[in-house]
Amino acid sequence: MTFHKTLLGLAACAILAVSGAWAQSYPERQITMVVPFAAGGPTDTVARLIADGMSADLGQQIVVENVSGAGGTLGAGKVASAEPDGYTLLLHHIGMATSATLHSKLPYDTLTAFDYVGLVTDVPMTIVARKDFPPGDFSSLVSYLRANAATVTMANATVGGASHLCGLLFMSAIETQLKTIPYDGTGPAMIDLLAGKVDFMCDQTTNTTQHIKDGTIKAYAVTTPARLAVLPDLPTAIESGLAGFDVSVWHGIYTPKGTPAAVNERLSAALQRALASPEVIARFAELGTEPSSAADATPAALKARLEAEIPRWKTLQGLALPQGSAK
Ligand code: ASP
Repeated sequence: MTFHKTLLGLAACAILAVSGAWAQSYPERQITMVVPFAAGGPTDTVARLIADGMSADLGQQIVVENVSGAGGTLGAGKVASAEPDGYTLLLHHIGMATSATLHSKLPYDTLTAFDYVGLVTDVPMTIVARKDFPPGDFSSLVSYLRANAATVTMANATVGGASHLCGLLFMSAIETQLKTIPYDGTGPAMIDLLAGKVDFMCDQTTNTTQHIKDGTIKAYAVTTPARLAVLPDLPTAIESGLAGFDVSVWHGIYTPKGTPAAVNERLSAALQRALASPEVIARFAELGTEPSSAADATPAALKARLEAEIPRWKTLQGLALPQGSAK
């Protein structure tokens, strides 16, 4: 018995020593960061900014791979089943939590399939429309949507997308069911909005700010309680009459369950340094957001956020959302 215990103890020490040494040499090759939405969209924009900063810190390139579909669950599923060796990361947003409620079956168990690196940013959303959409302000938007509910189209990134979540909350707040058009991400949805093929959507500022400033789309409201420094004339949904309408899109980086803790810590340190860089702070500010603090860019903070957000969005279960097809 004692002999066996000693042998087991020696084996455990050997494994720890090998994984510790391995973690010290990490990373030795290119890393893939999966974004579960289409290229060119708001999550992709955040990922590419952060991947550049983290690559410089890690001394290895982080390459972004877009694995879109099913509201982000395809990309998340890909990472859940990847080798837990630190070479496959997932950059996902609030959809990690809402998908757990809105999809009756997922290809992974949200709370047990991943390890955590840290929070990245909390991005406000904006309610925007094609440039020639008739309503001139938020209250005319609401009346117009109520009067034209059968024909107006609202884009989203399918069930589980942040745009889908915001759309559900918005339709519920104005007590009007609209026709929604699903896309693999709001990057492609924005292309259709700019082309006038879809009427409006709710999307992260990391996709909408520049177009709002350029005047190529119309903006009606921001979904955070406070106005944004970058778009000071844009009212909040709350001040426009939607009491309590408060949605922002937190983003985090995950690894497959079983990734060595030292690797997650190394990635977290790289994330913290990338988020603190003046270039990232300035670019995030231009896009209407700001980097998470060093304390939030940690495995423990992201784990706590996910665990708190899954029950928070259980309320979505009662809200139905039939999807249509583009004009
Ligand atoms: N904004 C999208 C969403 O609705 C995701 C994306 O395309 O980045 O979740």
